Amino acid sequence: MEDLLHSIEQKVKPLIGLGKVADYIPALANVDPNQFGIAIYSNDGELYYSGQANTEFSIQSISKVFSLTLAIKHYGDSMWQRVGREPSGNPFNSLVQLEYEAGVPRNPFINAGALVICDMNQSRFASPHYAMREFIRRLANNPELRSDKIVSDSEYEFRSRNASMAYLMKAFGNFENDVETVLHNYFDNCAMRMSCVDLAKAFSFLANRGFCQHTGEQVLSPKETMQVNGLLATSGLYDEAGNFAYRVGLPGKSGVGGGIVAIVPNRFSVCVWSPELNKSGNSLAGMAALEALSESIGWSIFG
Ligand code: GLU
Repeated sequence: MEDLLHSIEQKVKPLIGLGKVADYIPALANVDPNQFGIAIYSNDGELYYSGQANTEFSIQSISKVFSLTLAIKHYGDSMWQRVGREPSGNPFNSLVQLEYEAGVPRNPFINAGALVICDMNQSRFASPHYAMREFIRRLANNPELRSDKIVSDSEYEFRSRNASMAYLMKAFGNFENDVETVLHNYFDNCAMRMSCVDLAKAFSFLANRGFCQHTGEQVLSPKETMQVNGLLATSGLYDEAGNFAYRVGLPGKSGVGGGIVAIVPNRFSVCVWSPELNKSGNSLAGMAALEALSESIGWSIFG
């Protein structure tokens, strides 16, 4: 497996230079684009990796899967009154559908949906970001993980669009808590720094019917795990979920820090990272690496 990962790394690295790092905040715009890492974690606890798989990066939207998991554990099916389960077909930070759909976001992985989920977690935990950080540390088996204050402060400074979504949802009665407090928690979650190895481990429960091998914890039920994987397959890659299904054929979640996590149900969790993004905000080299890997091993769930 490691030979395959090395050869895929060599194959996709020439793509670095063709994309663009996220530049909506200075703290992300300054990341060195010339980086690539990949890690695979098997349900038997085997770890394979190549490149800068132990380098931490900003997980950004990948954090939305952890917040969703925490919300599902508490609210179960009742949460779906406040957020939908359909792909949006719009950019992750789009506002337009909210107005037409009475403040109910299309899915938990666009920003509006993730903000509603953070609002739910705010109603439940006294310190939602700390609850989330402890949860992630446990799942990744890494007590050192933390959020990057420079990134989250910068996100807060440039929060206008996310704040607009949250206030619009509040106007529709779909937001319970103080918007600014929820925004702080949301940005702290997005600014968590993790490596490919951390993320592959932390997502392993989704490849293992909800069971996290290294903590011995049943994180979600097998049915809830299937449901989350279904949402990841349809909405996990911004408005490029269809292309990801076509090219890679796995449930996945990307973030503008250049990370992409993918799940091979009942077998592996995978994380790839390279900071330069394509036009849809997904890692350019990361997508190509996952495509090559999935094709070489025959991983597509649609096969
Ligand atoms: N913190 C980013 C935002 O809210 C998340 C971007 C992303 O990775 O999709 O705009």
